Amino acid sequence: MEKKVAIVTGASRGIGRSIAYLLAKKGIKVIANYNQSEEKARELKEELEKENINIDIIKADVSKREEAKRLVQFAINSYEKIDILINNAGIAEYKLFTEETDEDWNRVINNNLYSAFVMCQEVSKNMIQNKNGCIINISSIWGMVGASLEVIYSVSKAGIDGLTKALAKELGPSNIRVNSIAPGTIDTDMNKGLTKQELKILEEVTPLGKIGKPEDIAKCVNWLVEDEFTTGQVISLNGGWVIT
Ligand code: NAP
Repeated sequence: MEKKVAIVTGASRGIGRSIAYLLAKKGIKVIANYNQSEEKARELKEELEKENINIDIIKADVSKREEAKRLVQFAINSYEKIDILINNAGIAEYKLFTEETDEDWNRVINNNLYSAFVMCQEVSKNMIQNKNGCIINISSIWGMVGASLEVIYSVSKAGIDGLTKALAKELGPSNIRVNSIAPGTIDTDMNKGLTKQELKILEEVTPLGKIGKPEDIAKCVNWLVEDEFTTGQVISLNGGWVIT
């Protein structure tokens, strides 16, 4: 059977790395995007090579149209199609709302939301032609319920969920499924600023008594890739911390 082709943005570290790893192990041709962490991206490639699995690692700042376009063009030139797009690249912010600047707004919105918009647009042209596709956007519980001191981040993630729902309706007739995964706290570099005590408190207020691992998100991605009847949904993996 012909191999599926997937682009995973922000695959050098954390959740994206775990998603790229699991999809590659599953036999999918993975194009793992990174921006600044070239060394980490190489480590991922080498780890998979030890298991005779070859992935492409491509540097691109997906908050910039031309770079996102180049990433997508690489995939089409190399494999003629893209079956799966995982919009995972993102950055955090933590600041008093009254101290946020226009630069903060542009940085967070461009990296978290514009990047997903641009990638969906560039990739969906190919998916529409092929009448096949699966897009998964990584949002956040903060997009669902809002976070104090993370206002722009929360806006960017709520925007991603809006993008997911609208695109699911527009692209559904072309057999393209679009879903969001909205994680709670996951053990990655993004949370390295949290103290041990803060992590303990987070665990205590979470019904399942733990924070998540990147693999928890990758397993859900794996399920959504297989599934054929789920679209326009925001699936929140958060240990029961947020139940809506
Ligand atoms: P992370 O460990 O900080 O990794 C972020 C990844 O995004 C890195 O691979 C980074 O690449 C990449 N990236 C950032 N901006 C990029 C850009 N403009 N172009 C290309 N790549 C870019 O974060 P994480 O925790 O794995 O988060 C992954 C996603 O999950 C994010 O969208 C985040 O908002 C979301 N999320 C995380 C949590 C959590 O608790 N960790 C919770 C909810 C949602 P380089 O290092 O190569 O630049």
